[in-house]
Amino acid sequence: MVISSLPIYEQFKLKYPSKVTKNRYGKCLVAKEDLGRGDVVQRYEGFILDCYADVPLNEICYALAIGTDHYMIVQSDARYINHACTPNCDIDQDYYVVTLEPLKKGEELTVCYNEIEPEHKGMTYFWDPRWSFTCHCGSANCIGKIDKYTVYKRPMNVTEW
Ligand SMILES: [Zn+2]
Repeated sequence: MVISSLPIYEQFKLKYPSKVTKNRYGKCLVAKEDLGRGDVVQRYEGFILDCYADVPLNEICYALAIGTDHYMIVQSDARYINHACTPNCDIDQDYYVVTLEPLKKGEELTVCYNEIEPEHKGMTYFWDPRWSFTCHCGSANCIGKIDKYTVYKRPMNVTEW
């Protein structure tokens, strides 16, 4: 059941300094201009479902977990943001995608799909095997197979802006 829908995103689309394009693996989102640290580049917007079984099959890979039992079917261009094990963007509490470092025009924007806070280590979170994939991000701490939520080893200050 759809329990809420965020405002139509189209009217805000132009204000984000990002655009959808393709890399060698498929669609991706890149910076439309040079960016600083802490810049908003997109927002996750879409329908929120309170039951995972209601997620349409063709949207499984675009379902964003909201808390532990709600899912957003992302309709904005944020759905094309790819994963990286050392991402250059993060998602804030209002679902805005914010840069973690200065970026050049044309650079691909990435977030980490499966990171949990160190204090949540050991907790089990639902992971649909259909979300799993092999990561090609190339970063030094790439964990390869993305098939569960995990705690990443990286400097603590990287996720603060
Ligand atoms: Zn990786």
